Amino acid sequence: MLSEKNYFKNHLAQTTPYPLELEIESAKGILLFDKEGNAYFDMISGIGVSNIGHGNPKVIDAIKIQAEKHLHVMVYGEFIQKKQSGFAKELLSFLPKSLNSIYPLNSGTEANEVALKLAKRATDRSKIVAFKGSYHGNTHGSMSISYNELRKAPFRPLLPDVHFIELNKLDQLNSIDDKTACVFLETIQGDAGVRIPKKEFLIGLRDKCNQTETLLIFDEVQCGIGRTGKMFAFEHFDVIPDILTLGKSLGAGMPIGAMVANQKLMSLLSDNPTLGHITTFGGHPVVMAAAEAGLKVIKEEQLLDKVEAKGVLLEKLLQHASIVEIRRIGLMFALEFESPEIVQKVVENCLSKRVLTFWFLSNPNSIRLAPPLIITETQIEETAKLIVEAINESI
Ligand code: PLP
Repeated sequence: MLSEKNYFKNHLAQTTPYPLELEIESAKGILLFDKEGNAYFDMISGIGVSNIGHGNPKVIDAIKIQAEKHLHVMVYGEFIQKKQSGFAKELLSFLPKSLNSIYPLNSGTEANEVALKLAKRATDRSKIVAFKGSYHGNTHGSMSISYNELRKAPFRPLLPDVHFIELNKLDQLNSIDDKTACVFLETIQGDAGVRIPKKEFLIGLRDKCNQTETLLIFDEVQCGIGRTGKMFAFEHFDVIPDILTLGKSLGAGMPIGAMVANQKLMSLLSDNPTLGHITTFGGHPVVMAAAEAGLKVIKEEQLLDKVEAKGVLLEKLLQHASIVEIRRIGLMFALEFESPEIVQKVVENCLSKRVLTFWFLSNPNSIRLAPPLIITETQIEETAKLIVEAINESI
């Protein structure tokens, strides 16, 4: 009989030749437990997902209660389902009034696909402006507006008429004109290694979109839902997008995506043609129950209040002569080193100390840290000590 590991290797699709191969048995708070009962500090939250930690009892209860009532009953958009409205009410309570309609979906990339479709439908234009360094997902549309050419080349042809400009370069906003359907931006670029825009740049971008009647789309699949210390990263900049895409931590551990827009704009997806986007499982009741419960946890337990202070503490404890730069907002970190080889060693040495860190696809000189927002000060001290030890052993 094949071991679990061999079965995984032989019968489940592989995404890389070198997967981490941890055999996880359970997870609680910021800890993952393997088969032998060893605890690992999850300092990446399953790549930006477990913002409220693993196994939150309120989320688990909500899932159980909904599972007893019903699972899937109909494709999205036909039936009135209590958990979809409950989820929408919770999410809207965090959003500005102009963003008042939600399309629940299955993943971040699907949310971005729908946003692209809505922008084309609304403007009758096809030109898209996106950013160097961007990552928006791995389906064809999202890949077209992502920058990393190495990852796109084998899958061309992709969407035409996509123009990439540089973050924080105000003069490049001239690429946005009256033929542009939308500008797509991760409010904080994740995969590029935590790149934070300047406020003046985002204000200039908003103005330029207004002047040219171009839709401004912020992708907060990774940086949304409290990761940066505010519920949505755009709140740091006083700029409101026309369309917002979400995913990852929005589902509190369940698979999710969501596109948010004004109701008038959103209504175009149900007209000419009707069914402008079709999704069978978007708004799945169990996912909606988990997401609603997760959003309530953030609000009721005031999880956002301490994110920045925790980020500051972790940053302080991670100061090290071998770190070239720390880029951080809230609890979203990139630690930049001199070479990808050092990065590789640091990630491996952290893993041997049972601290999970990770790489960035488009920034090989940095390691990624994004612990659950519930991490305690003691856990920050403990993990920072182990990471610093791992760095010392890597140089
Ligand atoms: N957008 C951003 C900013 C992301 O970081 C990701 C995933 O990492 C996606 C979109 C795609 O989300 P998903 O993997 O759920 O399709």
